Amino acid sequence: MRRSIHVFDLDDTLIRTEAKVRVLDSEGRKLRSLTPADFTTYKLQTGESFDFRDFSDVGILSRGIVLKYTRDIIETIMHHGTESDFGILTARGDKRLHAPFLIRLFAALFGIRLKNALIFALSDDRFLRHKEKSDLPEPFQGKRFTQLGIPERKALVIAQDLVSRGYNDISLYDDSRENLNAFKIICKAFPEIVYKSHFIDPTWKVRLEEFKVSELRQKTLTSGRKSAELILENHSRSGKDPEAGLKILDEGGEVSLGRGVLLRKDGSRFLLAKAD
Ligand SMILES: [Mg+2]
Repeated sequence: MRRSIHVFDLDDTLIRTEAKVRVLDSEGRKLRSLTPADFTTYKLQTGESFDFRDFSDVGILSRGIVLKYTRDIIETIMHHGTESDFGILTARGDKRLHAPFLIRLFAALFGIRLKNALIFALSDDRFLRHKEKSDLPEPFQGKRFTQLGIPERKALVIAQDLVSRGYNDISLYDDSRENLNAFKIICKAFPEIVYKSHFIDPTWKVRLEEFKVSELRQKTLTSGRKSAELILENHSRSGKDPEAGLKILDEGGEVSLGRGVLLRKDGSRFLLAKAD
C-alpha cells in the first residue's frame, strides 16, 4: 500500500522572514548579516563564526510571509483529496518553540493536522544520532556511514525515521538544491521507497540561470502554462501583463528572456530554448 508524505523545508520554502545569519569575528563582534540565500554560499574566514539567533526567534518567524508559490502547491495537493501526511524539516534550533506555531499555521491555513512527530528540527534528539548511526541498511552501515557528508547522514536518519513509520513515498520541497540532492541517498539506502524532489524557486531565477549555463538547447516546462506564466512575469518585458505574453506563445510566437534564451510553445508543450 502506498503511504505518502510531503515534507517541506521551512525558511525560504514555506515562510520568508527577515531573519538573518550574523557573521561574528573571533571577539564575537558582528561583521555582517547574511540572508538565508547568501548564507548557503558564504565561506567563513579564519576566526569567523555564524550566529543563528534570529532563527530561534518565533516572533520573527510569525511575522514572516507564507510563500504563495508553496501555499498553492499545498492547496493543490489538498484539493485532490489527498490521504498524504505532511511534515516539516528545518535547520532551526528549538523545536519546542517552533512546533506549536507550525501546527497552528497548518491548521489555520490549510486545515491540515500537522503531527508533532513529523516536524523534524535537525537539532532534535533523533538526529544527534547522525554522528554514529550504525543500524542502517547496507550499504550504509558502520564505517561507510561516517564517510558520508553531514547532509547525507541527516537525510538517512530522517529517511529511516519515515520508513519506520510506514511511509514509502516521500516528497521533499526545498529551496536548496544541495538538500534535495543529499536526500537522493534515500534511493540507495531504501530502494523500495519512492523519493521525489521539488525545487522551490518561486520566480524561476535559479532554474533559468541553470538552463542558460547548461549544454541543453531546449527544456520542456513540466508544469507547462503555470511555469510559463511565472517566467513571463519575472523575466520578460511582458512582466506586468503575463497574459499578453501567453497569448503571443499561443499564437506560435516567441518571447525573449534575454541572453539568447527564448520561451516558446510547441504543440501543447511550453519550452525554454536557446536562440540559434
Ligand atoms: Mg530553506
